[in-house]
Amino acid sequence: MLLARARVRGRVVHAIVEDGALHLIRGGLFGRRERSGEVVPLAEARLLAPTRPTKVLAIGLNYRSHLDSGGAQSAGARPAPAQPEPFIKTPSSVIGPGEAIVLPPGAGRVDEEGEVVAVIGRRGRNIPEERVDDHVLGYTCGNDVSARPWQRGDLQWWRAKSADTFTAVGPWIATDLDPEAIPLAVRLNGEVIQQATTADLIHSIRRCIAHISSAMTLERGDLVFTGTPGETHQLTDGDIVAVEVGGVGVLRNPVVEG
Ligand code: MG
Repeated sequence: MLLARARVRGRVVHAIVEDGALHLIRGGLFGRRERSGEVVPLAEARLLAPTRPTKVLAIGLNYRSHLDSGGAQSAGARPAPAQPEPFIKTPSSVIGPGEAIVLPPGAGRVDEEGEVVAVIGRRGRNIPEERVDDHVLGYTCGNDVSARPWQRGDLQWWRAKSADTFTAVGPWIATDLDPEAIPLAVRLNGEVIQQATTADLIHSIRRCIAHISSAMTLERGDLVFTGTPGETHQLTDGDIVAVEVGGVGVLRNPVVEG
């Protein structure tokens, strides 16, 4: 099932996506999802980021191929982290499909990071790995946009990872995916620049979510970015970056100079 949040004629709605249309549901994405009977063609809706998270977590250095490319920050290969290494991105940096990624003036090099994103559907703390699936509503596409000089030079990643528009998600949530086998591909202006599957993750999605929940309560709608593979690419004014997650769809965002 594909679940979306959208703006339709000035109101925000939740819907099941089927056959190119939004089938509106009552009670939001986390309730009984009872169809209201109202159907809106996708062309008449503006899709929004699928949830409004209380927090966004992202795992750093979680693909071998990314470490071998020198990772995000340093030259040369790096050892794999012994445990998942999450960091925080702010909810205020979240944008939806089609919204522009804005390059902040003076930020220097800004890269895309295409990722598979888990959407929390049920509140939990100290979730054991074997129960994680009960707390995940589904998966969506994400772009963990990253300003490299700020990431290297600042003590914290407050603006390197959370400047406005630096957390793109959507276009909707797919339920019922196998978290161990989700394909991911990123295209920059139509050319494939990153490709992997979650089978390649150093720390599995279940392990990452269990680890995060050992320290903080995960709430409905919270987002967990699971890591980026291979080599990331610089974004420039006028680019179109597309993150495709198998079973979900494609998240497309234009890039503009701030
Ligand atoms: Mg990332």
